[in-house]
Parts: sequence; structure tokens; C-alpha cells
Amino acid sequence: MKFEASRAKALDQLNTFVENNLSQYSKLRNFDFGPENRKNISGLSPYITHGVINEKEVIEKSLSKFSFSKNEKFIQEVLWRTYWKGWLELRPTVWADYLIELDKIRKEFKNNKNYFNAIEGKTSKECFNYWVSELKENNYLHNHARMWFASIWIFTLELPWQLGAEFFMQHLYDGDPASNTLGWRWVAGIQTQGKNYLASEWNIKKFTNNRFDNIKLNENAPPKIPEKTYSIMKKNFSNKNINDRNLLIFENNLSFETTDFKNNKFKKIYIISNKNKNRSIKLSEKVIKFKSLLIDDQKQRLKDNFIDCEVFDISEIKNIREEIIALYPTVGENLDYLNSNNLKLDFLFRKLDQYSWQYCNKGFFNFKNYIPKIITTFN
Ligand SMILES: Cc1cc2nc3c(=O)[nH]c(=O)nc-3n(C[C@H](O)[C@H](O)[C@H](O)COP(=O)(O)OP(=O)(O)OC[C@H]3O[C@@H](n4cnc5c(N)ncnc54)[C@H](O)[C@@H]3O)c2cc1C
Repeated sequence: MKFEASRAKALDQLNTFVENNLSQYSKLRNFDFGPENRKNISGLSPYITHGVINEKEVIEKSLSKFSFSKNEKFIQEVLWRTYWKGWLELRPTVWADYLIELDKIRKEFKNNKNYFNAIEGKTSKECFNYWVSELKENNYLHNHARMWFASIWIFTLELPWQLGAEFFMQHLYDGDPASNTLGWRWVAGIQTQGKNYLASEWNIKKFTNNRFDNIKLNENAPPKIPEKTYSIMKKNFSNKNINDRNLLIFENNLSFETTDFKNNKFKKIYIISNKNKNRSIKLSEKVIKFKSLLIDDQKQRLKDNFIDCEVFDISEIKNIREEIIALYPTVGENLDYLNSNNLKLDFLFRKLDQYSWQYCNKGFFNFKNYIPKIITTFN
């Protein structure tokens, strides 16, 4: 699967998937047939993560082809992302604590041979080594491979989940603080407490079409024990005066023309780029390049619509003299930068997030009950 960095490519991929492959999605989605054969899944996450296309558009397109009941599985998956986002927004300290733990563990593992063998794909597990090179080469892994990978990392190689989550963030084109951190916590058994995900030989063989041999794993490990529980923080979405201000867009909203605020009048739009200098987790060159091409693509589309815009590095925000307002960057490195530099901005929140996040206080099974309500409100 090739990920070209443009909205045109994302829309094309969405259309092709919905027209040709959506009908088989719930039956085939769990199969990882290998990087050359990804038609059973949408491959849209690198675009949705960056807001190049959004969940609403994806769901609308799927509903134009099939009814909600025929489409339910796909819609649920699309809204997992919204759920994970909301879950983390209500407990932002989970992310802050993750970065603190990561910093400590990095030091402890700076000479650890097992860790280096793992990230260089030199372990005794053929499938794991394969996924390491697939991740570095294609910057994407199938969802099932992510689950197996994380499980082998934690329970067979016995490495800390925090380092595995960092490794994913460094190389995934869709790297996202919520889906990634909470995905790893879920596999470890600290997200749904007491329930870990254990990869098994038969499951890997079946869902990879027997592409790998000699898969001897620890299939009986107990879940990791959470060190802390997190209480919910209230989210404040108060309305702001929008018009005639400068708008900041971060890397999670790179399609201004589809946002809830597309009809508002802004003086100028600043698209904020965040290179490695201001990140706790240093991304691979390919990921930085992918982000920068998506930013250029957004800039070009704004210019084509005669909207005054400029790309600014995150460190230059303090130099913008006139009043600014920003599309909310969500919990992650960009928000961390604003907070640690005492840049107190007014934020605009997506209506879908404002509405959905109220249902993220409990587990996904509870959230799922509200999906029909979310769909009728937004589609
Ligand atoms: C350990 C681990 C780490 C992960 N890290 C990330 C990450 O950094 N960024 C990321 O976007 N996803 C992450 N995921 C979730 C999931 O693996 C990817 O979103 C999915 O594989 C993307 O492929 P796709 O677009 O073909 O998905 P499809 O199956 O076509 O699903 C359609 C869309 O639904 C959403 N989605 C599907 N499954 C999930 C899920 N489990 N959680 C959240 N959203 C989902 C995505 O937006 C996806 O594009 C992670 C999962 C695990 C187990």
C-alpha cells in the first residue's frame, strides 16, 4: 500500500474502498494478507489521523453505499478513533505520565541488547522481524499485526510497552497519541484492567494465511498491573468570538475546507509545522516528510481558494502579533508545546468531538450504544 500525501489521493482511496471492498469488510478485515494485498481494509488511517479527510466524510460516503446495519462494523471502527481521542481528552494525565515513564525507561534501556534486537528486527521470531521491516519500510501495519506485534513485544520479548509505543509513533504515518498509547495499554492489560491481549500461534497462522513458521510465543502471560488509576477531568467547550482573527491549524486538521468553521471569516490561516526539535518522541525522517507534504497540500488547496495562508514552525507562534484562535490540536505533542511555553490560546473544537466525547467516560461497549445517536446527529 502506497500512501501519497494528498487529499486527492485520500478521497480516491476512500471511493475505491467503498465501491469495491466495503461489502466484504466485516468478513475479511482481520486478515493480514501482506503489504501487497490490502484491499480488505481501507488504509485511510494516515489521512484521518491528519484530518486530511475526517470521520464524518468517511461515514457519509459509506452510508451512501450501504445502510447503517450493513455498515455497522466499519462505522464502529471509524468511531474507535473518536472514542480513544475522547477517552484521552478526559484523562490527559495518561499521556503526560506516559512521556515521563518513557523518559525514565529510555535511560534504563539505553544499552539493552534485547531492545536493540527488537527494533532492528533481529529476534528469534520471524514474523516479528518481518513486521519491524514492514513498519520501517511502509510506515503502516495492519491492525491485527499491531496487536500481535505489541503482544510479542510485551509478553514474549518482555520489553516495556512504553518503548514499543514510542517505536510505533516514530515510524507510523498514522501515529496518534490516543490510538497508539491506548492501543498499547489495551494489549498490556492496563487499559481494560486485568484483560491482556495474548497473541497465539494458531491465530497468527490463520489470519496471515500461513505466511510464517516457527511461532513459539508466551501464550499464558498475566496482564500488566496498572500503577495508577485516573479520574475524569471535565472538558470545557465554551464558545469563542471567531471572526476576524488569525486561525492556527495543527497537523491533526489538515483540511480546513471540510471543518465546521469553513464558512467563518479569518484574517489569515497559519498552518503549524512541528519538526523533531520540539517533540519528546523523535519521528523518523519519512514520517516528518509525510507530514510536511500534507501541510504543503493543504496550503496549496487554501491558495487555490484565495485564502491567505502561511506555514509556520511551532516555535514561531509567539511572533504572531494579532489575535489568534486555533483548531484544537488534541492531547499530544503540539498541545504540550503550547502548554510548556505558556501560550494560552482560544480553541475551536470539532462539533463531532464535542458531542461524542461526553460518551467516552466509560468503556467502548458503552460508547457503542450511542453510535446510532451520533450518526443521526451528524449524518
Ligand atoms: C498497538 C496498537 C497501536 C495502534 N496505533 C495507532 C496509531 O498510532 N494511529 C492510528 O490511527 N491507529 C492506531 N491503531 C489502530 C488501528 O490499528 C489502525 O487505525 C488501523 O490499523 C488503520 O488501518 P485502516 O485505516 O486500514 O483501518 P480500517 O480497518 O479500514 O478502519 C477504518 C478506520 O477506522 C479507524 N480504526 C480502525 N481500527 C481502529 C482502532 N483499533 N483504534 C482506533 N481507530 C481505529 C481508523 O481511523 C481507520 O482508518 C493501533 C492499534 C493497536 C493495536
